[in-house]
Amino acid sequence: MVHWIGVDDTDSLQGMCTTFLATEIVRDLTEDFDLIGYPRLVRLNPNIPWKTRGNGAVCMRFGEGLGPPFVVGSIAGRTIEAHPRGRASSEPAAVADRVALHVERWSRFDDATTNPAFAVLSRQPTPALYWRAVRGVVSKGSAQAAARGLGVVRSYKNGRGVIGALSAIAWRPRDRTYEVLTYRAPEAWTTARRIAPESVIRMDRNFPSTFNNYDYVNDRLVIAPHSPCPVLFGIRGDDPAVLLPAMRVIEGERPERWLIFETNQGTDDHVMRRRSVKPGATVRLSGRVTSPPRAIAGGHVVFRLGDLDVTAYEPSKQFRAVVRSLAPGDRIEAIGAIRRRPKTLNLEKLFVESTAPRFRKVANPWCPECQKRAKSLGRQAGFRCPCCRKHFPLSAATFDRIERSLRPGWYEPPVGSRRHLSMPLKRIGFASDTSPPGGSVSPPAFLHARGPGGLDSEAGDAVPTLYPLDDL
Ligand SMILES: [Zn+2]
Repeated sequence: MVHWIGVDDTDSLQGMCTTFLATEIVRDLTEDFDLIGYPRLVRLNPNIPWKTRGNGAVCMRFGEGLGPPFVVGSIAGRTIEAHPRGRASSEPAAVADRVALHVERWSRFDDATTNPAFAVLSRQPTPALYWRAVRGVVSKGSAQAAARGLGVVRSYKNGRGVIGALSAIAWRPRDRTYEVLTYRAPEAWTTARRIAPESVIRMDRNFPSTFNNYDYVNDRLVIAPHSPCPVLFGIRGDDPAVLLPAMRVIEGERPERWLIFETNQGTDDHVMRRRSVKPGATVRLSGRVTSPPRAIAGGHVVFRLGDLDVTAYEPSKQFRAVVRSLAPGDRIEAIGAIRRRPKTLNLEKLFVESTAPRFRKVANPWCPECQKRAKSLGRQAGFRCPCCRKHFPLSAATFDRIERSLRPGWYEPPVGSRRHLSMPLKRIGFASDTSPPGGSVSPPAFLHARGPGGLDSEAGDAVPTLYPLDDL
């Protein structure tokens, strides 16, 4: 048994970051306790209307460590180690008082939408709490009920942070990734970050188990947030062992501290395979395209899948070129969040199972008697010879099969337009061997450009403006 600490909703769009608060708790508590396992950064349902940025909560375990320690970070010149297992070494209430000091010092109480909470539990709440919080909507009451009798829960203001704090503790990884987050010295927080882009490219190429690092289309790094938060940059990957060497490749400003988090980022944990399309849920639906894609105001592209509208938003950039090349009859699978009004699936990822053949009329029917081309009688009405007035059906015309540029396979938006929870195709081995559609598509969608808008997948949870996908 160890102390499970969960914290959520301490940051605001104007600054701070719950993961920085986690480093402060780690810095303090490791004076007297051992850290057990990696600290955790747990992303919850991205479609919650009241979420602050990436809807991420943190969870840390402390106690008396068992098993050989391993390095997970460095804070103020001190190496931070964790043990693979542990047991509790004091009462939760004593730990809670220390955690409270940090939550009260660092939370952005001035922001109306920031409602901090933390918990110190001796056991994890039911895993169902995590799954409900990552896929649906959990009430404060039901989160509290799941933690009853398990330890101390404290909340501030309207206390909504309780939901994330307890749900983060409830996470039992089915799939996981890691992110090393680096932080700036407080005096640098409001200044521009200095990171050498070439070093990010070098890191990206040398450490293939990392992902979402660099946009090769627009030549922009994606590892750093743009908001005035304490995060310098974050590198995400499948293998925690390479994150420290990868971090050392990055040139520029030196981080004041760094910490490796175990996360549910890039796992698709938020995606449900089901037919019911409840607003706020992220679903995976398969079917046939039933209308040609059309552009709507704002640069978005909409088509119909069965009887549901599917929208690829402007910030998904080059991904829209893939969507525009769909045609009625194509068999696809669409992953995305269901938006209530207008009811639509906000496309996060697309699998093209098969494309339907398309034809183009190249010549009207030939009348062999008169040696003349027949004339069209109008749409769907067939043809008639202008001399002998013989009638020809539509099928008598000459058609050419149009070469479809769209290849079967997986497609995803550029690096900077992905949600924290979305599994990058790179993680499932699909990366850049997916052929881009040809013709009008430039640059290819699989090169993952980063858009200029406010996007969801910057490192360190910092998103200055909401992605349309989040605007439920
Ligand atoms: Zn004729």
